[in-house]
Amino acid sequence: MTPWFKTSLLLCALLASSASAAVDRYAVQFSEGLERVDVQLCFHGEAPDRLYRHAAAAQHASPLQFSGKTLPTRNTATRMLLPELPPNACLNWHYELAAAAAAMDYARAYTVGDSVVAETALWFWKGPRERPVEVRVSLPAGYQLSTPWPRDPGDPTRYRPEQTATSWTSRSAIGPFTSQVISLPGGQLELTLLGVDDAATAHKLRIWVEESAAAISSVFGYFPRAHTQVLVVALGPRSEPVPWAHVIRGGGAAVQFYVDETRPLEEFRADWTATHEFSHLLLPFVARDDRWLSEGMASYYQNVLRARDGRLTEQQAWQAMEDGFQRGRDSAGGDTLREASRSGWRSTRRVYWSGAAMMLQADIRLRRQTAGTKTLDTALEALHDCCFDAGKRWFARDLLQELDRLADTDVFMTVYAEHIEASTFPDLNDTYERLGLETTSGGIRMANGRPNSALRAAIMRPATAQSRAGTARDSAP
Ligand SMILES: [Zn+2]
Repeated sequence: MTPWFKTSLLLCALLASSASAAVDRYAVQFSEGLERVDVQLCFHGEAPDRLYRHAAAAQHASPLQFSGKTLPTRNTATRMLLPELPPNACLNWHYELAAAAAAMDYARAYTVGDSVVAETALWFWKGPRERPVEVRVSLPAGYQLSTPWPRDPGDPTRYRPEQTATSWTSRSAIGPFTSQVISLPGGQLELTLLGVDDAATAHKLRIWVEESAAAISSVFGYFPRAHTQVLVVALGPRSEPVPWAHVIRGGGAAVQFYVDETRPLEEFRADWTATHEFSHLLLPFVARDDRWLSEGMASYYQNVLRARDGRLTEQQAWQAMEDGFQRGRDSAGGDTLREASRSGWRSTRRVYWSGAAMMLQADIRLRRQTAGTKTLDTALEALHDCCFDAGKRWFARDLLQELDRLADTDVFMTVYAEHIEASTFPDLNDTYERLGLETTSGGIRMANGRPNSALRAAIMRPATAQSRAGTARDSAP
């Protein structure tokens, strides 16, 4: 037993008496002007042997304090090995938020006006995933926090982060903004606009987010996540409405968009990015090495869903899909799909659009086998209902086997086996022939009277209320 341990036993006994639920409790305080954030972490019972943090955290962080003294830890860039601690121990540290944000590093911390956006793991250091946590947050007057963490319904200052892997990333924004809640069947989006000063621009961006998210709700009849953080960062004039966006899953679901807020609503409506990003939430987290599946699914739905809500005509949606497939064909060659999925950005088109072609094939085969009673939509909804542990990372093979089991079919694993080791882009000639799609020099043409031309139209039509009978939901569980 070390000296600092002995001197703190009394304090720990006092703290233990106030602990009740089996969670590790954080108390987080942001200073005036967001100069720094002070964190206290009180463990429930036995302390873990380590905490995890961001690789860049050490630069602006204080050492861990226990009972008023610096705690001896052994550190790597992302791990702090803790010495043995008494039960219900509390640790304190602080992080120099303003100093970190001054670097204006969009992957770590930066400012937008008076607000700060930061990788949460810079200051929020977690124990192993298995330990549930609760976070109480104190903010300067007039300030808000935007985070992926679901809020405690009875106490808006208390959050309960989802138990995701410590390596999963997240972003928090703190500032004098006003977040908006967008309620959809099945869930709520908490929308925060940063760098937007006028009401008309705020209104325009809200409509764009709301319409894009509503399109995803149409797949199951409800939004796939109960709580989703949506951060929109205005960049000013750029060459397109949404130069960059991504889905992040640490501690909860989140989508972050960087936008040119000066562009008109029509350009945002015509852009596929938001539909693509929200479509990722139809699936749980898929391992990065299997990104052909997650990106293929999102690339498929980004066109299907825009047709279903009327943003694209059926012909435009098939054209957009074929344009993507052609980009995929043009960049295929050499690597198998498995290899390409594990290589860098150069294989993006090949990977995304091969995955989308496979989802199209699986959707068609499933609809044909079941006379349209089962679809990719219904298979994903069954997965959502049975196995949607938000903190689990899936490998493609396991996920496709589960989809086959749930749909009582073999189409998903068949499509997987046909293409995963192929070095060429999926051949869609038979698929197009059956659907009555013809590629011509003037673009894709739809011919009627082919075996599955009704099926072709059905893919791009919203599921009817009747086909979703018994599964529609009105509110989050
Ligand atoms: Zn994507």
